[in-house]
Amino acid sequence: MIGENAFYDDLGVPTVINAASTKTRISGSLIRPEAVEAMNQAAESFVRVSDLQAAASGLISEVTGAEAGYVANGAAACLTLGTAAAIAGEDFGAMSRLPDTTGVPDEVIMPNTHRNGYDHAIRAAGANIVTVGNNDSRLGTGSKSTELWEIEDAIGEETAAISYMEKPYTTPPLPDVVKVAHEHDVPIIVDAAAELPPAENLSKFIDHGADMVAFSGGKAIRGPQTSGILAGKQEYIRSAALQHLDMHVAEEVWNPPTEIFGEDPVPGVPRQGIGRPLKAGKEEIAGLIRALELFVDEDQDARMAEWNGFADLIYDGLTGITGVELDRREGGKLMAAPEVLVELDPDETGIDAVELVANLRNENPRIFVGSDDLMENAFGINTICLSEEESQYIVDRLRHYLT
Ligand SMILES: *Cc1c(COP(=O)(O)O)cnc(C)c1O
Repeated sequence: MIGENAFYDDLGVPTVINAASTKTRISGSLIRPEAVEAMNQAAESFVRVSDLQAAASGLISEVTGAEAGYVANGAAACLTLGTAAAIAGEDFGAMSRLPDTTGVPDEVIMPNTHRNGYDHAIRAAGANIVTVGNNDSRLGTGSKSTELWEIEDAIGEETAAISYMEKPYTTPPLPDVVKVAHEHDVPIIVDAAAELPPAENLSKFIDHGADMVAFSGGKAIRGPQTSGILAGKQEYIRSAALQHLDMHVAEEVWNPPTEIFGEDPVPGVPRQGIGRPLKAGKEEIAGLIRALELFVDEDQDARMAEWNGFADLIYDGLTGITGVELDRREGGKLMAAPEVLVELDPDETGIDAVELVANLRNENPRIFVGSDDLMENAFGINTICLSEEESQYIVDRLRHYLT
């Protein structure tokens, strides 16, 4: 039966048919079976976590082109770590004081239109976000939301970093912001948590000159839900590791791996850092490594063809219902996979989008559809997390309410 899972059934916890794409509240994505297998194998032996992080760093560096890489328990955790690295650098005193930033520059500049719920992860490191620009690009005047000079103007003695949320619509263009940042010796941290696929994005932002880039391991990579990648310059990955690894070590016999720390000797042992609550276990790191290897080898066109097939099935299955208009949105730009937007005329269907979407969520299994367009009496069906059987099931359930 669809949605059946002995473990969740025993607990009385309903499973979810996910037509809303990779969202943490409905448990992200389905981890690749090979990644689960890697986690099982990893669980069978002890390992020095820094050795495993060094191996992860090698792979991240290979697939992103960054000098080094690191794994924490999500992209948000990586944003906290990256910010802590930008603020503290090699300063052990600052590391041990964070999130108290007394005595060190702690401002992180963000264009207004890049502010989002995840910037709490940046503030969690002790940063003070300085917002620049406004939202003028929505006025239809040709005016931009953020001018480069506004970013430049905000850079000063207290600047620790520039934060950039990468989306296909974000402006100013990343290479331009990188140029301004680097002219002033300020690092730039890119939040690219959900910007995969396309796999080319793994290296794109590093190519554009970003100092650090954060990706989710638990979205399209399909690694563990609690994994994230920080790719970047050695000096920042080194600082991030010093603030994340378990630092209850005996200095005399501590052996920090060069893949993460570079060739320069580490001048002592810092205290447990701000990153300590963001730890990734050997199983998460192993699962992320395996998932990332498979993600970069995946045939992206074949995946897209599969998602398109599910969208066709849903579109065809819902065609011809009175009071229902369908709009097929191609994947590629904002979302990786295609989506079918379902618009209702409640006078004809007898049910509006809010009521329908709420009903779907209360079923067993629960059905989650995209809820961005509820106020227009519409909802989206995204195919990135669906199977063919589930796509058909959604059609059947929708027909039940709409016909
Ligand atoms: C999902 C997401 C995050 C958080 O990623 P996690 O891996 O869940 O921590 C951060 N920023 C953006 C823009 C995201 O979409």
